[in-house]
Amino acid sequence: MALRITEVFYSLQGEASRAGLPTVFVRLTGCPLRCTWCDTTYSFTGGEAATVESVLAEVAKYPARQVCVTGGEPLSQKDCLPLLTALCDAGYDVSLETSGALDVAGVDPRVSRIMDLKAPDSGELARNLWENLVQLNPRDEIKIVIASRSDYEWARDVLRERQLDRICPVLFSPAQGLIEPQSLAEWILKDGLNVRFQLQLHKLLWGNMQGK
Ligand code: SF4
Repeated sequence: MALRITEVFYSLQGEASRAGLPTVFVRLTGCPLRCTWCDTTYSFTGGEAATVESVLAEVAKYPARQVCVTGGEPLSQKDCLPLLTALCDAGYDVSLETSGALDVAGVDPRVSRIMDLKAPDSGELARNLWENLVQLNPRDEIKIVIASRSDYEWARDVLRERQLDRICPVLFSPAQGLIEPQSLAEWILKDGLNVRFQLQLHKLLWGNMQGK
């Protein structure tokens, strides 16, 4: 089995309900999307060949129970699925960060899927695979990156129309440098949305630094 890996590193989880927990990140190479505000463009190409076994050995070097498989879009590599299962079998608490553009149905049910919905300013609205919503359960999380007031209104309307917060926790995250986090916080409060506002903890601690 072959994987392409951009990096394996150990840091604090910066997002979602596991924020703050020491975590090993496995960043798979490649993504079929091109979000305007993407902060991991270095993962689009390159990377090193690896096997499921070699990734497990690398992960085991770090003292963490949490493993986050991310990208890029990790599901764009077919061997992402056996990697996730192998990590679960090894006893890790495994999360997957995915764009929401690819089918999440085949992911091992022990994995917590952190699935994006792409708002209009991402430039990738048309890539949202809405059928994924029926696959999600309360162990999963939906994340929407918001870059403008119009993105916010889109996210708010989708939240209400599709009752996203009845499926799983929903995260609204400001796009760094494009919107004042305080504005997003105030809009959420004013509308009384049942979502979690989140800032990316790792960027507060270390800035936008690769490997952190
Ligand atoms: S899906 Fe993720 S990795 Fe791919 S372009 Fe969008 S933000 Fe970047």
